[in-house]
Amino acid sequence: MKWQNKGHEFDKLGEIFQKNKKILVLGENINSVCKIADKLQFVNLDNNVEKKVVNGIFLKLFKIFGTILTGSNVTIVVADDSDKIAGKLLKNNHFKKNINLFSEKDFFSRYLSIYALYAADKTYSESQCIIVTTLCTLNCKHCLNFNPYIKDKCHNDINEIKKSIDTYFKAFDRCGLFHLSGGETFMYQKCSELIRYIYDNYKEKIDELGASSNLVVKLSDELCQTLHDCNVVLFVDDYTDQIDDKKIALFNESFEKLKKFKVNCVINKGTELRWFSIFPPIKDDSLLNASDLTKKYDACGYRNSEIRNGYMNNCNYSGFAQRAGIIDQDYSEWYNLNTYTKDKKFELIEYRLGYSEKGYTDFCKYCNGYITINPDNFVPVGGQIDGTLSWNKENPLEIIYDKQGAEV
Ligand code: SF4
Repeated sequence: MKWQNKGHEFDKLGEIFQKNKKILVLGENINSVCKIADKLQFVNLDNNVEKKVVNGIFLKLFKIFGTILTGSNVTIVVADDSDKIAGKLLKNNHFKKNINLFSEKDFFSRYLSIYALYAADKTYSESQCIIVTTLCTLNCKHCLNFNPYIKDKCHNDINEIKKSIDTYFKAFDRCGLFHLSGGETFMYQKCSELIRYIYDNYKEKIDELGASSNLVVKLSDELCQTLHDCNVVLFVDDYTDQIDDKKIALFNESFEKLKKFKVNCVINKGTELRWFSIFPPIKDDSLLNASDLTKKYDACGYRNSEIRNGYMNNCNYSGFAQRAGIIDQDYSEWYNLNTYTKDKKFELIEYRLGYSEKGYTDFCKYCNGYITINPDNFVPVGGQIDGTLSWNKENPLEIIYDKQGAEV
């Protein structure tokens, strides 16, 4: 989205949120309702967040309840995206989707940032990732961080990483998932120190501290203890069906160790995943004009973000492509958190939700897009190659792999 009215893009919805400041969390499951209410504590400044578990009886009595729920002065968030509850409420003319009635997914991925800003004067981002290293123990041909294209892989300087994190949390009051990634995150020798630093300084500002790993890496006791102590959610990419026996043994050893230290792991089994090919391009969009590129960016809708050197982007694939040398590094597309001051909070949130001066990123010219606009272009998950890959930007559809870029 291209900025048309910078600093005021969400004023209309913001005014509605100011009016509907009371948040009512409805759901069928008490745990889900409480989990949402917990995540909303940072905007619960004058006990405006209420939770209610609703069941069959509620639905039958909805007419009575409905006389109370007139839709005015309330913002409803439906836990677990329950269609049963949302559908019932939408039959009541007082409720409109994404105005005063939200699914959990929609609210946390977008609308909470606007609510928090206008109704509670807080800055919120659903998620943020930071890359600690580009070194990896695997070399997946279709790596979504484009690692095989990186010729000068390295660990990032811990002081620079900490500085970026400090800068980020000066701007943001709250982050849903703050996520460390790589490369292989745990090849980074200073992971324990970094995780403790984030936890000690910012645990009050983070819903979930996460890290990703393929577990084809030796884990120290110190690291496992840190992951446990700091409540890190570890997203394990399990490629044991794609890798050799030696690597599988290392994976199993690390996994057992994590169990011993009671680390909270979320397993993403390679055989159950589907990777879509975001790059190299299957069609040439490099000559699209700015307006068409903005249309592509908007339709894509991908909004995960990376921070680096005190800058934040609004499409991390674009940042990964810059790091990998696929396109030129261009911080003018990124939001400069180093110069952030509180009077820029509206443009900060607008940027994080997709607005920018250009309205797209340069990588949109070469990227196939997220699954929203690239739904059928699947590639083998975790397929390994030798060496590095290159690509010829001058002729986007001609894919040139380095001699070593052979599948293994
Ligand atoms: S098309 Fe690609 S570069 Fe553009 S926003 Fe989508 S994922 Fe990002």
